[in-house]
Amino acid sequence: MFDKDTSGEVPEHRDFVYDVLKPFCEKEMGIKFNILHASKTYDDVFHHIIVRGPHKGLKRGFAWPGMCAVNRDCKIPPIDKYKKGLSPNAVTYVGIALDEPVRLARLDGTNKISLLEKYKLTENDATALCAQYGLLSPIYGHCRRNGCWFCPNASDAELRHILTHHPKLFEQLLQWEQEDNLFHRRITRTETPSEVKARLLADHRVGCSIS
Ligand code: SF4
Repeated sequence: MFDKDTSGEVPEHRDFVYDVLKPFCEKEMGIKFNILHASKTYDDVFHHIIVRGPHKGLKRGFAWPGMCAVNRDCKIPPIDKYKKGLSPNAVTYVGIALDEPVRLARLDGTNKISLLEKYKLTENDATALCAQYGLLSPIYGHCRRNGCWFCPNASDAELRHILTHHPKLFEQLLQWEQEDNLFHRRITRTETPSEVKARLLADHRVGCSIS
């Protein structure tokens, strides 16, 4: 969750999960479908006060690319907690395709299984299969990956989508950027939210004038 009321998923993907994927799994396939939530939100992660080191006393600020505190504090804990209630022999199925050898190699020695590898399906095969069953998330209409809408690894296409289709969400990032005592004010590796907004809108104006 972004905060206690707002999902961290891109809104169209959040709706897809609740309105399409969950009913399909439960009604068409008879699969139990639990949506897990962490006790912490991105709001908590962002406003965490650093308690030691040279930045002690500052708010942590936006998540960092490559060291995402949201992954550590919000994404992993509820999954680990859920798995503790399962049999020790329970396996985890992960969505890693046949043409992702580096990620597949990391599954060796774990209890994680890729069904896409088992059935020899590439990323393109998986996309086609999802499309065939009406299970392709709408986010693939504007980008190639799915992540939190405030992700520090988001591409320009993902950021532009939030900026133009969900301006109230982007406005939240702009407001947080203005807070005092922030350690990390950049939302991407190099730019603050207001810098991202100015660049993407300028790109759009250039694109419009060329066309
Ligand atoms: S999608 Fe991005 S923001 Fe969300 S947990 Fe992963 S790295 Fe962090």
